[in-house]
Amino acid sequence: MNRQDNQQTRASVFDLSYSQLEARMQGLGQPSFRARQVWQWIWQKGCPDFARMTNLSKELRHRLAQELDLRLPALSGLASSRDGTKKGLLSLYDGQEVEWVLIPDKDHFTLCLSTQVGCSLGCTFCSTGRMGFVRNLTSGEILAQVLIATQVLEEARSSWPLRNIVFMGMGEPLLNWSQVHKGLTILRDPMGLGFSHRRVTVSTVGVPGTLTAFAQTGLASLAVSLHAPNQALRRQIMPAASRLLPLSDLMDTLQAIPLKPRQRITVEYILLGGVNDGLNQARDLNRLLSRLKCKINLISFNPAPELPYTAPDPDAVAAFEHFLRSKGQTVTLRKSKGQDIQAACGQLRNSPGRSNAGSALEPNMERGMHAQT
Ligand code: SF4
Repeated sequence: MNRQDNQQTRASVFDLSYSQLEARMQGLGQPSFRARQVWQWIWQKGCPDFARMTNLSKELRHRLAQELDLRLPALSGLASSRDGTKKGLLSLYDGQEVEWVLIPDKDHFTLCLSTQVGCSLGCTFCSTGRMGFVRNLTSGEILAQVLIATQVLEEARSSWPLRNIVFMGMGEPLLNWSQVHKGLTILRDPMGLGFSHRRVTVSTVGVPGTLTAFAQTGLASLAVSLHAPNQALRRQIMPAASRLLPLSDLMDTLQAIPLKPRQRITVEYILLGGVNDGLNQARDLNRLLSRLKCKINLISFNPAPELPYTAPDPDAVAAFEHFLRSKGQTVTLRKSKGQDIQAACGQLRNSPGRSNAGSALEPNMERGMHAQT
């Protein structure tokens, strides 16, 4: 999140890891406990101004303000759905924009956040994929979505807390692994944002090497965007992802991930009308997953004008789900939310050049997404 300020480039404080902040503080001749104090002001208290960090000396506050940028990206659009879903649009320092979605569930919200502007993988059922890849988000830009979504809930006086974070918005998280890793570390840090492992999920199509590296960190739960029960169909609907890690290699990699007794990998399967929603595909899927400790998340496709698919027939969805359950699979059928504001699964798509200054409610702000609200 580097920005040009008065001819100088100040690093965004939100892009620093704890050790990087500590090194900065040492450079200013400060003991390491000062780094801890600043860290808590930033991540736990959401302090928007160095001048308000009252347990630091006035001189240190001044030096920090000279060296580090404490501004968050601007919330340039906010849309609210009839079902309570909220979609936010962030304007980044270079004019790029990304979307995040707050999804209500019983008594809390889940935040679906983005990790890239656009996506290079071009899955054929995903609006984000139509944009192509623009750039990776920094760890600070990823976490800014958490901070701003929290502010939105506070300003709305929501009695429901933000409880879960899912990395399922725009972009493939594991193609931006270094920044996602840094962001996850701060998200989980008890002195940072303090989310527990089971409250954070990263969704990926599967990236060779990085998938195993992510699983080994234990920083978050794993969800895999599978969407097809065989390589031929996966190649058809997810051409780049199926080349990146062919289905048989993906399954081998998943089966090699050690899981705790009650831990499961979530398998995401978007049902596309007449494409992958037949009983033959349900049979193939059951066979494919027979040796994997997993739960299956079925999602009905949300049609969008730019995408070449239709929603599945409700009877086909019911039959697909019933078959898998009859074989002993754990299945949930996710009800998409936020369709009226284009915030549902597969619908996030940033629209460059769109003008929506201010935080006005825009019932039809654009949408775009990885694959799973
Ligand atoms: S589904 Fe995910 S990986 Fe595929 S194009 Fe969309 S954002 Fe990229």
